[in-house]
Amino acid sequence: MNVSVVVFTSDLRLYDHPPLRAALDGRRSVVPLFVRDAAVDRAGFAAPNRLAFLADCLRDLDEGLRERGGRLVVRSGDTVEEVCRVAAETDADEVHLAAEASAFAQRRERRLRHALEAEGRRLHVHDAVTTAVPPGAVTPASTDHFAVFTPYFRHWSRQALRRPLAAPRAVPVPDGAVSEPLPSRDGLSGLSPALAPGGESEGRARLAAWLRSGAEAYADRHDDLAGDATSRLSPHLHFGTLSPVEVVHRARRAGGPGAEAFVRQLAWRDFHRQVLAARPTAAHADYRTRGDRWRWGPAAAADAEAWRQGRTGHPIVDAAMRQLLHEGWLHNRGRLLAASFLTKTLYIDWRVGAEHFLRWLVDGDLANNQLNWQWVAGTGTDTRPHRVLSPLAQARRYDPDGAYVLRWVPELADAADAAGATRAAVHEPWKLPERVRSASGYPDPIVDLAEGLARFRRARGLD
Ligand SMILES: Cc1cc2nc3c(=O)[nH]c(=O)nc-3n(C[C@H](O)[C@H](O)[C@H](O)COP(=O)(O)OP(=O)(O)OC[C@H]3O[C@@H](n4cnc5c(N)ncnc54)[C@H](O)[C@@H]3O)c2cc1C
Repeated sequence: MNVSVVVFTSDLRLYDHPPLRAALDGRRSVVPLFVRDAAVDRAGFAAPNRLAFLADCLRDLDEGLRERGGRLVVRSGDTVEEVCRVAAETDADEVHLAAEASAFAQRRERRLRHALEAEGRRLHVHDAVTTAVPPGAVTPASTDHFAVFTPYFRHWSRQALRRPLAAPRAVPVPDGAVSEPLPSRDGLSGLSPALAPGGESEGRARLAAWLRSGAEAYADRHDDLAGDATSRLSPHLHFGTLSPVEVVHRARRAGGPGAEAFVRQLAWRDFHRQVLAARPTAAHADYRTRGDRWRWGPAAAADAEAWRQGRTGHPIVDAAMRQLLHEGWLHNRGRLLAASFLTKTLYIDWRVGAEHFLRWLVDGDLANNQLNWQWVAGTGTDTRPHRVLSPLAQARRYDPDGAYVLRWVPELADAADAAGATRAAVHEPWKLPERVRSASGYPDPIVDLAEGLARFRRARGLD
């Protein structure tokens, strides 16, 4: 029987997995392979929260394969070398891999193709595995990618998606494929205490529950910070324990304004991937430079550290930053206002913030993280690059009764009670009596909002 190697990367699932399906066609036996790539660790992407989630995903994938008569083969090292080694050990004549957008993934694909062809083996790369609509599938007439979301979304919505595939019934794995032990959560330190569990089973259960009882209200409630009414599917989409094609199909089938608004967000994910695939440098360099000369030096470093710790003295920002540390996940509205505060109110380089988010986010993703940071900083694809989100206005709008702030900054609850103030007063602790404020231990604001705004406008040459 001919042997194929299926290289799992950001597609850690058995349902709707085109590379696995193609490899199994013709009753071939397959080697389901995951390589823990040393270059990913060296580049600083192996954050503890994501390593823990990844360990859950690999364990679940292995269990799913064992139920089908197979098992997962895990190796560590350089992906290209390990894939070639496994292919040689098992006498595989072809390798299947999902296409991905980053410069690292594109380089890996080229190197792998070259190395396999030199040994007389074929590489098959599959689109629409890690995205619903692949980068490059829709383009404007004049250039290679869309730089504005709205027209992209119009084209994206008209694309016919392939039909989702069932999970295979059997996965025959040849004997010769030797595996290292599966990675585990044991021994990982620096994890968020309330980190979500990973794995395809978990992802599918979450998706089913979301479509049953969450998506319907999404259009109205997705921005309610305390309501926590978004899907929380982002880590599953990042690790590919859910297929974006399947998620879009199932959401469309569920129908209604909530599901429609949810599908629109999934299009944002593909949008950022097509930008990154066309402009890989946007992971690190301004997509559209505004000539910023960001603050740096000791005062900026102290401000950035207060931001990281959730001790800026602006409660809604601090609540968001504390949620990030505690859960390794953050509500989109929290990401937006915390990023705007760092890049605009404090006028600190978006890369400083993006790095901290990548250290903690379980869904931390080069395309989504870096390009959303650039969007907020005004160096990316936002058509209103100089907009500044006022933390206070955001707090009043998206946390009107202070419930979100009180969840993450509990010391302000006592302060508000002691002052006989309403719960909504927690958004402006500087108005509470000095005695109550200092007893709470909550810091004074590190920046005056009006001064921060004026500094930003001067820096961008707007005034
Ligand atoms: C500064 C900043 C950094 C971000 N970093 C990341 C990141 O590293 N990884 C990540 O997956 N998302 C990132 N986002 C986008 C967004 O905040 C998260 O995808 C979302 O909060 C995840 O929660 P959810 O799954 O409940 O989303 P839902 O609201 O339920 O949306 C469904 C899915 O749509 C996608 N999506 C939603 N909003 C966006 C968006 N603005 N851009 C791209 N895709 C989106 C996600 O895959 C999400 O799971 C970032 C946003 C900002 C402003």
